[in-house]
Amino acid sequence: MIDPMDRLFTQVDTARDALVDLTRDLVRIPTLNPPGEYYREICEFLKTRLEQRGFAVEMVRAEGAPGDSDVYPRWNLVARIEGRNPGDCVHFNSHIDVVDVGHGWTVDPFEGVVRDGKVFGRGTCDMKGGLAASIIAAEAFLDICPDFSGAIEISATADEETGGYGGVAYLAERGYFSPDRVQHVIIPEPLNKDRICLGHRGVWWAELETKGRIGHGSMPFLGDCAVRHMGDVIAEMETTLFPALAEKRTAMPVVPEGARQSTINLNSIHGGQDELPDDFTGFPAPVVPDSCRMVIDRRFLIEEDIADVKQEMADLLARVGARRDDFRFELRDLHEVQPTMTKRDAPVVRAVENAVIHVLDKTPDFVVSPGTYDQKHIDRIGRLQNCIAYGPGILDLAHQPDEYVGIDDMVDAAKVMSVALSGLLTENGEG
Ligand SMILES: [Zn+2]
Repeated sequence: MIDPMDRLFTQVDTARDALVDLTRDLVRIPTLNPPGEYYREICEFLKTRLEQRGFAVEMVRAEGAPGDSDVYPRWNLVARIEGRNPGDCVHFNSHIDVVDVGHGWTVDPFEGVVRDGKVFGRGTCDMKGGLAASIIAAEAFLDICPDFSGAIEISATADEETGGYGGVAYLAERGYFSPDRVQHVIIPEPLNKDRICLGHRGVWWAELETKGRIGHGSMPFLGDCAVRHMGDVIAEMETTLFPALAEKRTAMPVVPEGARQSTINLNSIHGGQDELPDDFTGFPAPVVPDSCRMVIDRRFLIEEDIADVKQEMADLLARVGARRDDFRFELRDLHEVQPTMTKRDAPVVRAVENAVIHVLDKTPDFVVSPGTYDQKHIDRIGRLQNCIAYGPGILDLAHQPDEYVGIDDMVDAAKVMSVALSGLLTENGEG
């Protein structure tokens, strides 16, 4: 008897052209976000395809989610197919949105150009190649192992690039990722085909505003300059905060290595009068700035508590206040995400690990992402901790001009996914 693994490999190899075609079809639907275009069209396209393969398909609009409107509705798709016997459900979740094209392209970003064994285009790597690979993997598995136990789900969700509130968060709040429905989640984000991503660091975004008093620019001593107050905040950060963050090392295997510590980015800063429009040919007026606003982006570790992260900033501002007259400020929370990390021995991790060993003949690297992705919602809202990111594509190419995904990488990742399905949903699987 032929080894079922070999039959899966052959089946995926046979579908190589179909995998390329599917990726190109997806890239040709320009699902730019913001504002969130063509979500309905891409979901309809996937619905037709998956229904032909026997999936029951639901389309869910995230009504009332941020950005949702009749002009830009936040459509999501959830497809499910049941096996012959009861068992676990393996869910593949991909986001359908892509980021702005930007400059520097040498190919049409929405044509799906195939060259040198790669498919080029916005969203090929992040993450329509991964979505296509998961569909081909599921189809190959259904062909070879029709008697499987449990269920397979494939979701295509909106708005990951802008926080996922009109996508995975919306579905998770409605029970789509609850542990009694879904037991294993694989998110085919582009982490490279030989790496398993266990989770991500935490995020705290805040806006700090220092306050001053307006006055004439020729007599700044009669006003109070909010920008100078902010300058001292940044100076304090340079001398105390940045060195302290560099000392905070994590046991999380974050890649790249430089992100294996706490970090803060000063995301934007603005003080004083609004910038003058480009077409205005006059001069600014002489005014002492009475307000300066800075947005900070603090990334924290699983070893840190968000309350301590905020306290650290409060302490810093207190030190600045102790040495400056009339130091007044407001600190506003904008957004926070808890860090998450699936256990190394969780069932989905072991199934994909075994599959990588079978397909690539090497042990995968276990990594953690420096930035967040939709796993945060599956963990915190869905309460499901058996979740990883695994998919084809080179992470560094995401959001770049001439983004591409390698065809061999997609085929290998599809094999890994199909073998992982076999491990989790069949008796002779090795999960
Ligand atoms: Zn992505």
